[in-house]
Amino acid sequence: MNKKEELALNGGTPIRDSYLPYGKQWIDNEDIKAVTDVLKSDFITTGPAISQFEKEIAEFVGAKYAVAFSSGTAALHAACFAAGIKENDEVITTPMTFAASSNCILYVGGQPVFADIDSKTYNISPESIKSLLTEKTKAIITVDFTGQPAEYDEIISLAKKSGLIIIDDAAHALGATYKDRHIGSIGDMTMFSFHPVKHITTGEGGIITTSNADYYEKLLLFRSHGITRDSLKLKNNQGPWYYEMQELGYNYRMTDIQAALGSSQLKKLNTFLKKRREYAKKYNDAFAEIDALITPYQQHECNSSWHLYIVRLDMEKLNVNRKEIFKALQKENIGVNVHYIPVHLHPFYQKLGYRKGLCPQAEKLYEEIITLPLFPAMSEQDLHDVIAGVKKVISYYSIDQR
Ligand SMILES: *Cc1c(COP(=O)(O)O)cnc(C)c1O
Repeated sequence: MNKKEELALNGGTPIRDSYLPYGKQWIDNEDIKAVTDVLKSDFITTGPAISQFEKEIAEFVGAKYAVAFSSGTAALHAACFAAGIKENDEVITTPMTFAASSNCILYVGGQPVFADIDSKTYNISPESIKSLLTEKTKAIITVDFTGQPAEYDEIISLAKKSGLIIIDDAAHALGATYKDRHIGSIGDMTMFSFHPVKHITTGEGGIITTSNADYYEKLLLFRSHGITRDSLKLKNNQGPWYYEMQELGYNYRMTDIQAALGSSQLKKLNTFLKKRREYAKKYNDAFAEIDALITPYQQHECNSSWHLYIVRLDMEKLNVNRKEIFKALQKENIGVNVHYIPVHLHPFYQKLGYRKGLCPQAEKLYEEIITLPLFPAMSEQDLHDVIAGVKKVISYYSIDQR
């Protein structure tokens, strides 16, 4: 066995000179031109670039409609409104996600109910959903965690039996497929986020895709103050200037500057996905031989979009906890992260009465995971640095099995 290399944490030389983030956008000259073209045009907001981008996203995922928003979180809020979720309604979701997936339920006065995850896929467990269904359950918010689609056959059948609406938080899953269907055409409404770490970016931004005309109309209304100018919908048309505020909506509009960037980014999505999948495979191959690491399980008949690459530590084979390993990797200049702190453990949710122990599988997973850098703009060399850094740190802390 080789002599153990000294960790940067203990004063050794780091694997890399510069810090590698876990995710980052890819912006090229085409994107910049798309943005400056809009800036020179007549409309920088509420113009033609928005409907163009919406049409392209809807076509890509195979949905009838898409409505763009100022953020993914605003889009989720709108979806909860369109679904008619209100006070006393329960909505089942997963805690292994970003807080926005469940905050949107609270925005409309609903009650988040956290189902546990499947310890193999890390996605929401259909069994757990089933055990939490009540008379008050109105909807399920699934999350395609890391880009791997949730178990839709089972979830859809549960939803159908109980008349529930499925809102898919697919912030991680643009380009993912479930049994040959694109994510975006499966849930009643699906949200994609265009934050810079996501698959494509508009700076900030999000979108809902749906094939339901009623949801579509409500999403449009909600995005712009609840105001309509559509003469067919006006209750009391007083003249050509007239508009009506019919619901309490928000200003959640995306600008044309952002939409043009989105359209330009979308042209590169397949290249981005290819890179992510290629890098994920290289990680899988490199880590397969390391006993103390559990690589991500992949569902049959699904193609993940690989937003995140998460390794799980096998604690019995290591002589330190996740925190030590995390710190050691950071010192090697590898931009590791943790996705996510289970939502119900945040102080705000604790104040609402949610307690530790509610979702044991998610809570256990949280203690053992580390997200490694994965984004299309990283180079082969970056990838090799991550692999070398992980091998260095894990072998240093591995309990010698012999
Ligand atoms: C990024 C993200 C969101 C929120 O999207 P924003 O565009 O940042 O508002 C919601 N859910 C998940 C799972 C996310 O990763």
